[in-house]
Amino acid sequence: MKPFKVRLRFYGDLNVFLRSKAGDAVIERRLAEKTSIKDVIESCGVPHPEVDLIFVDDQTVGFDHTVEDDAKVEVFPVEELGTFDTDKRLQHFGISRFVADGHLGRLTRNLRLLGFDVAYRQNADDRRLLEVMACENRALLTRDRRLLMHGIVRHGYYPRSQNADEQTIEVVRRFNLSDLIAPFTRCLRCNAPLEEAAKADIIDRLEPLTKIYYDQFRRCPDCKQIYWSGSHFPKLQKRIDEIRSRAQGQA
Ligand SMILES: [Zn+2]
Repeated sequence: MKPFKVRLRFYGDLNVFLRSKAGDAVIERRLAEKTSIKDVIESCGVPHPEVDLIFVDDQTVGFDHTVEDDAKVEVFPVEELGTFDTDKRLQHFGISRFVADGHLGRLTRNLRLLGFDVAYRQNADDRRLLEVMACENRALLTRDRRLLMHGIVRHGYYPRSQNADEQTIEVVRRFNLSDLIAPFTRCLRCNAPLEEAAKADIIDRLEPLTKIYYDQFRRCPDCKQIYWSGSHFPKLQKRIDEIRSRAQGQA
C-alpha cells in the first residue's frame, strides 16, 4: 500500500495531551496501512474517552472508521459539545458513578462529600480498576493516559489539574453533575450511602461534648462511621458551595 498522509487538528483542551505544546495543535501522521481513526488519534497521545466528535474530511465518523487515504481530521473534546447538535457525539452524559485510580484519593473524598458514588482502593492495580469499571458500569478517573487508552474503557476522564478541588470542579463539569450534588449523604471512608441514626442508638460512641451539643447524626451502615455537623461543618459547607458555583459557572 502506498504511504499516505493524515493531518489532525485537535480542538479545545485536547492539546494538553499532545507532545508538542507549540503551534495550533495540528499534527501530521504518515501511515503505510489502513488504520482505525481511534488508533491514529491515540498515537498522538489523546485517549479516546476524551474525544467526543471526529470529522474526517468534514464528515462525522465513529472510532472504528478506517483511514486509508490522505485525510483531514478534526478532533473535538467534550467541552465543545454545545457547538454541534449531532447524534455523532461519541461520549454521552448521564454517568454519575466512577472508579478512581489509587493516586486520586483526595478527589475521591471530595466527590463522595458531594454525594457521588466513587469506587476506590489505594492499592488497586490496573486490571482491578478496569474490572470494576466494566462490571459496575463506572467511568474511569485516572491521570494514567495509557490506562485511559485501554480498549475496554468506554467512559473516562483525565483530570487536568493536580489539585483535588480543581479536579472535582473538572469532573462535575465534564459529567454534568451539578444538579445531582447531594452533600453529606455518602460515607467518605467507604462510599456507602449514609443512614439517619437516632442519637439514643449511638450515644455510647460519642465524645462528651458531642453528646451535649448535637442531636442529628448519620451513620455508615458498612463501616459504622458516625457523621454530624460539627465545628468543621461551616468550613466544609463553604468549600462545597464554592465547588458547586465554580462548576456551574466558567470561572
Ligand atoms: Zn463507611
